[in-house]
Amino acid sequence: MSTLRFHAIKESLAYRPVKIVEEERRSELFGQNVFNLNAMRQYLTNDAFLGVKNAIQFGKKIDRNIADQVASSMKDWALSKHVTHYTHWFQPLTGATAEKHDAFFETIGDDLSIEKFGGSQLVQQEPDASSFPHGGIRNTFEARGYTAWDPTSPAFIYGTTLCIPTIFVAYTGEALDYKTPLLRALSAVDEAATAVCKYFDKNVKKVTSSLGWEQEYFLIDKMLAASRPDIMLTGRTLLGHSSAKGQQLDDHYFGSIPSRALNFMKDLEKECMLLGIPVKTRHNEVAPNQFEVAPIFEEANLAVDHNSLLMDIMGRVAARHNFKVLLHEKPFAGVNGSGKHNNWSLSTDTGVNLLAPGKTPMSSLQFLTFFINTIKAVHKHEALLRAVIASASNDHRLGANEAPPAIISVFIGEQLKKVLEELEGVTKGKLSPKEKTELKLNVVGKIPDVLLDNTDRNRTSPFAFTGNKFEFRAVGSMANCGNPMTVLNTIVAKQLKDFKKEVDALIDKKDLKKDEAVFNVLREYIKSTKDILFEGNSYGEAWEAEAKKRGLSNSKTTPEALKAQISKESIALFEEMNVMSAIETKARYEIEIESYIMHIQIESRVLADIARNHIVPTAVKYQNVLIENVKGLKDIFEKKYLNVSKEQITLIEEISNHIEGINSNVTKMVDERRSANKLTVMDKRAEAYSQKVMPLFDDIRYHCDKLELLVDDEIWPLTKYRELLFTR
Ligand code: ADP
Ligand code: MG
Repeated sequence: MSTLRFHAIKESLAYRPVKIVEEERRSELFGQNVFNLNAMRQYLTNDAFLGVKNAIQFGKKIDRNIADQVASSMKDWALSKHVTHYTHWFQPLTGATAEKHDAFFETIGDDLSIEKFGGSQLVQQEPDASSFPHGGIRNTFEARGYTAWDPTSPAFIYGTTLCIPTIFVAYTGEALDYKTPLLRALSAVDEAATAVCKYFDKNVKKVTSSLGWEQEYFLIDKMLAASRPDIMLTGRTLLGHSSAKGQQLDDHYFGSIPSRALNFMKDLEKECMLLGIPVKTRHNEVAPNQFEVAPIFEEANLAVDHNSLLMDIMGRVAARHNFKVLLHEKPFAGVNGSGKHNNWSLSTDTGVNLLAPGKTPMSSLQFLTFFINTIKAVHKHEALLRAVIASASNDHRLGANEAPPAIISVFIGEQLKKVLEELEGVTKGKLSPKEKTELKLNVVGKIPDVLLDNTDRNRTSPFAFTGNKFEFRAVGSMANCGNPMTVLNTIVAKQLKDFKKEVDALIDKKDLKKDEAVFNVLREYIKSTKDILFEGNSYGEAWEAEAKKRGLSNSKTTPEALKAQISKESIALFEEMNVMSAIETKARYEIEIESYIMHIQIESRVLADIARNHIVPTAVKYQNVLIENVKGLKDIFEKKYLNVSKEQITLIEEISNHIEGINSNVTKMVDERRSANKLTVMDKRAEAYSQKVMPLFDDIRYHCDKLELLVDDEIWPLTKYRELLFTR
């Protein structure tokens, strides 16, 4: 028992839950390490406080004098909490968060030194950014990028560092991060939605997009994870036979949380409280050792920052509890993958959730307006929505036989479907007073009641209406939510803008009343968007065939799906809504294609290494034991030895076949990789990786997993699925 595997198992069995003290109430901890309005109120002058507040609420610019004051107060606040460094904290397109720490400490001559932090350090920094992905935007001679303060997301303290959320852009102004386009999309949806709200309530001045994410993850013992090179290098298992017990018994979902995991969660939640991340829900997920954490929803930009921050601190807290967090969408074959449901809605500064029906018929008509426009936007841009959640790792959920599928559809439930059917019959043009009353009282007015008993839930839909919000479920667990939130808010903004034009035209040219015009436009939308609505089980062949008839896209791989990101329509859409220039859109596409290629390339190398250098030698070793055994039997039984060594001889042959299977397929895979690397057009290279290299993973894995069943457990080098998934 000399393998790392057994050492790891022994260590992991000795781990006990790490004690967690929970003395203070959560409400007392909440936001303690955040320079939030409460802290600002105490540290800022009234002028500075109002300046920041206006920037947060209405996007007003903060002038230099105020920035100096804010910086100085931020420093005082941070020093009072024993902070020594500050950093601009941003989200480059690598998917991770980035930071470079600078000390407040400065020397000022004459052997004197002070802690210094001024407006200029707060507002803008120039990190040497040449090694962040940029998709060709920055030539080497213009490799500078800069980070700029985002006052809408409050600064926070992590460890002994003051972190200032920032955007990250090229010197020429193009976005190099997730936040910049998101902020532009949020502003676009604010403008378009506020204009539409004015049909219903003149007092609305601002519409905010909200996001409540639900983060799924696996928690694996740290030592066991460390014993698997595939987990360490790719975040998932590339091979491993399924465990005799998996998730068949459904005994993990919502079950009692194992105490080691529970203590990790408590610790994580405490960190979240201090950082102002309002986590509220924790539970076991479907697969063994799979869990979920979800906060109370927040303004979308803040929620995205909080999710990025959470993913980062999860890893650090896990280490304290001897765990490794796997955020990969599909760490284990044969058990459920992980996603990150994005619950999304829009709400007004007057406190109205635009995706919740109101008490009066007029507010319910407002709800219908936003509800139907969202459906229309998703229908029109379904391929783009699919593209924005595409990644090498998410392909394992979306393209494979697992909900949600690669086809985007919208689930609204039978009750709301009936409401839409009734609205479809609304008269063209002017409505009679009787029809109007009938509609307001008995169709639109009844929506709140209808929704009360709208209990049908569809768990397989990638985009579902869940009572007062839409839930975009196809987002991957590793993804930065900034991307899907940018696209969703942009397409809805564009749709609302078009809607307003159509309604205004009917009012001006056909002399319709406001509500008549709204009904007329919505009626046409209902008719034209039926193909995106789907109430059934969203995966499987029947739906695929049906979706094809409806003209919905069904891109199973990332290279295929990403094409929609740079279609003429998408480029025009982002330009029109001032979210991304054509250069920015194309750069993002290139970055994603390259990232896809690199992921598959790394996986392919790791797989080849494990198969050839770990599995084959182990199989040979065991085969030699069998050969010795047969030889011995031959010595004892002489001619009759075949009677007693039949099984061993069959095993020896089987092992040889699998070794051959591994070696020939690894050779094939390496050859395919070489050919792929010769392709200079990146799209073609990505396609080759997806169509030629990837399929060989399965063949290699097949033989390795068969060997796992044949070879003596005592010498098997890789920690097995049952050990990874059931050690708590
Ligand atoms: P479930 O869908 O599991 O029944 P909830 O309805 O409470 O649970 O919501 C799940 C998630 O949706 C939570 O993260 C919650 O914060 C979020 N959520 C609720 N309302 C909204 C909203 N108006 N906008 C965005 N997210 C929301
Ligand atoms: Mg959910």
